Amino acid sequence: MENSASGSAFLQIANDAVSGLAAPTVGLVSIGAVKNQRLPDQKQPELSADKGLGSKLDFFNLTREELGAVLADEFGVPSYRAQQIFGWVYKHGITDFSLMLNLSATLRAKLAERFFFPHAVTRSRQISTDGTRKYLLELDDGDCVEAVMIKQPARMTLCVSSQVGCGMGCKFCRTATMGFQRHLSASEIVRQVRAVLADAINFGDTFQNIVFMGMGEPLHNLKGVVGALRILTDEMAFNMGPRKITVSTSGLVPAIKKFGESGVGVNLAVSLNATTDAVRDQIMPVNKAFPISKLLAALREFPLKARKLITIEYVMLDGINTSEEDLRRLPGLLRGIPSKVNLIPYNDNAGLGFSSPSRDTIDRWHRVLNERGFSATIRWSKGQDIDAACGQLAHKAGSS
Ligand code: SAH
Ligand code: SF4
Repeated sequence: MENSASGSAFLQIANDAVSGLAAPTVGLVSIGAVKNQRLPDQKQPELSADKGLGSKLDFFNLTREELGAVLADEFGVPSYRAQQIFGWVYKHGITDFSLMLNLSATLRAKLAERFFFPHAVTRSRQISTDGTRKYLLELDDGDCVEAVMIKQPARMTLCVSSQVGCGMGCKFCRTATMGFQRHLSASEIVRQVRAVLADAINFGDTFQNIVFMGMGEPLHNLKGVVGALRILTDEMAFNMGPRKITVSTSGLVPAIKKFGESGVGVNLAVSLNATTDAVRDQIMPVNKAFPISKLLAALREFPLKARKLITIEYVMLDGINTSEEDLRRLPGLLRGIPSKVNLIPYNDNAGLGFSSPSRDTIDRWHRVLNERGFSATIRWSKGQDIDAACGQLAHKAGSS
């Protein structure tokens, strides 16, 4: 899909997202469905069969429950064996079934016939002067995505991509210039995490948080994203607390509802970026399908656990969304939504025609919002010298 500005295109995107998740996710039937499903107008990742792997399943696409269903239905072994296999793969890093010695030799042989373990190949790694690392990762079909290990004072945050390109067409974002290429599978998201973790050994660090703020609109790809989240939060896999993971959306309202219903329980961030529909329509075409009032209503209904807050992201664009009226309106819009505000000074993307407001304006917004009872923080970008900051990710295979 092109960078469409039409509202109906976004209704279609929202429908695709919601129907993507609606596919059953447990049991053998469902795994067939996952493998074979092709959503309308969506280029899907290559199937294993396309790669001469016969009917093999990509191990990293399966939640523990789904793996248990394959074991029970195909091999007649109790589904709790999935726990042992997850332990080998995710805790011990073993992807050779013949080494999983607490399984019978027969089962090991059957597993080797049925599953394969694909990798994301690291095409390049750039290191910023601030310690942030950007990875260009190549997928099986040659498409590339970026993942960023963001250095913060007391921790590291891993930023992953959810799509190749993005179809939402936000005017200030470089990923938008690629248009929508395709969704990433759960496996391709898990593989980004594995690739970055494998390299982290070279730096003696690891990440404490994951944000879905790389390339793509995560809630356009509910199936891949929710599948990956189930694996990331599984105690037998990455064992990440849901509070350590944040998914950021541009505001696909029906998908926000579905995401809440999925029960994954991770943090939600929403890119509001304007206080009027007139301005938001101009910079974020998704607003034409789902205007601010509908978006905020969806946030008011979003199931939040105790003491949890929705993060409201506000990219500060000089002369566009940073007037005194905007600053007065914002607290009113957020009334009744348990939220905190992230002010994001615009990271320059040459040629897109936007710039960040002055330091004075940024500091004033920060101060005034806090005075009005909001927990507002300024999110200064990391990795700007390597174009690893928010909205600066855009890659095609062949370039690096
Ligand atoms: N697609 C999702 C997540 C990826 S973008 C979303 O839009 O929320 C992550 C964040 O970067 C969003 O808040 C987006 O508004 C912001 N962003 C995009 N381009 C930017 C830029 N050039 N400078 C600063 N923030 C930007
Ligand atoms: Fe897509 Fe987010 Fe960029 Fe908008 S800001 S084009 S939704 S990645």
